[in-house]
Amino acid sequence: MEYDVIIIGMGIAGISAAIYAKNSNLDILLIEKETPGGLLNKINVINNYPGFPKIAGPDLALNLFQSVTDLKIPYKLAEVNHIEIDGNKKRVETSIGNFTSNFVILATGRKNKKLGLENEEKLLGRGVSTCALCDGNLYKGKEVAVVGGGNSALEEALYLANVVKKVYLIHRRDSFRAEESLIMQVKEKENIEIIYNSNVTSIIEEENKVKEIIINEKKHLKIAALFTYVGFVPNHDFIDSLDITTPDGYIEVNKNQETKIKGLY
Ligand code: NAP
Repeated sequence: MEYDVIIIGMGIAGISAAIYAKNSNLDILLIEKETPGGLLNKINVINNYPGFPKIAGPDLALNLFQSVTDLKIPYKLAEVNHIEIDGNKKRVETSIGNFTSNFVILATGRKNKKLGLENEEKLLGRGVSTCALCDGNLYKGKEVAVVGGGNSALEEALYLANVVKKVYLIHRRDSFRAEESLIMQVKEKENIEIIYNSNVTSIIEEENKVKEIIINEKKHLKIAALFTYVGFVPNHDFIDSLDITTPDGYIEVNKNQETKIKGLY
């Protein structure tokens, strides 16, 4: 199938682009590999998006998706594996087939960065989590740990503190980079214990589940789950061969948001 524009990613950026392209009467296709709304689906509450004083992440994701269906914007749920450049044409190769266009917009956002511990990946869904909203309920009445010192870690520690028995908030420095209002709330929350100047150096497992963590290679902490919020990395492995990224993996663009490949934004 051939389109004017293919937009990869159905988060806020991709859907915004799709609305403008559709209203410009272009023949477009939106592609998303997971859930429309992207990372919004993993956020408990958003209180700084204009027009929505306070809204649950999944609700905002649903509103976004409604814009797509109301405007009858064509979309496909598929994973993009590669983009083949052929002159002005771009062939977007996906898990459900190939689609061609002159213009492609990459709006794939970011994914959670890992701590880099040996068994971290293997224990995802078995006590290691990057989504308090999805998994928090599994640990009612138990003690869990959150790692990180940014807005995500503190927001999700606060969410978890209302669900579980106790939250250990582990941060590698002696001060947080999160907003002051979140820091104050965290410090006031009785069942959050802050552990500064500390790194999780190992995860001990039992029967394929998290049993405890080791902090700074010596202190053992018995927890039911480890929630990691240590930042994000770009989410677009499928463009690796196009040589359009900076050394840290972000896409390089000009002032028009266009990469060095004409028609690839
Ligand atoms: P972030 O701001 O990049 O913070 C990541 C945190 O993880 C930092 O405290 C960092 O420590 C720590 N960290 C990084 N690598 C680590 C490692 N290997 N081991 C241990 N700790 C590590 O990420 P974020 O909190 O996810 O936020 C990302 C962006 O989204 C930010 O711009 C944030 O403001 C925004 N955000 C906004 C809201 C909101 O507006 N309410 C909510 C969530 C996120 P250091 O501090 O020592 O570097």
